[in-house]
Amino acid sequence: MTLPIYIDAYSGYKANERPETSTLDEELYNIAEVEDQWHEPDAEYFRVRTAEGKRYILRYNQQADEWTLQSGFDGDALLGRPGIALVTVNAAQIREAESKIEGCGYCHPDDSELPFDWILERVAGKAGMVDFMMVETAKCPNCKQTLTEKTLVELK
Ligand SMILES: [Zn+2]
Repeated sequence: MTLPIYIDAYSGYKANERPETSTLDEELYNIAEVEDQWHEPDAEYFRVRTAEGKRYILRYNQQADEWTLQSGFDGDALLGRPGIALVTVNAAQIREAESKIEGCGYCHPDDSELPFDWILERVAGKAGMVDFMMVETAKCPNCKQTLTEKTLVELK
């Protein structure tokens, strides 16, 4: 079993050269070190260590531009959580969610009162015990700030 996740990757000499942070649940995992990296015909694999000392194996499919968490090391605990539905938010749904936003907590701090996942729930048609995994970066259409599930936004 694998789990799609959103990865904010550092892009150096090529796109998505190495992952820097990964977002799962409502937590942001900061990747302290890429301990190992290997290439297979279908994808790039990274064994990473987070700032909290957890180890995960991440897979990057360049064609689909999709990161997934693989089983192994500390990833098994995340993959095995019961009772929470994992909903992948595709690129078209992310664009739709962005189109409903006037501004965010960075550019309109006084008017932004709803977390971004309130909009994701409506765009994806899912709510409740749901974790959203965005396959692409969502950005505020006004100031281009990266939006996480918990970023406060202002509706149009
Ligand atoms: Zn903004």
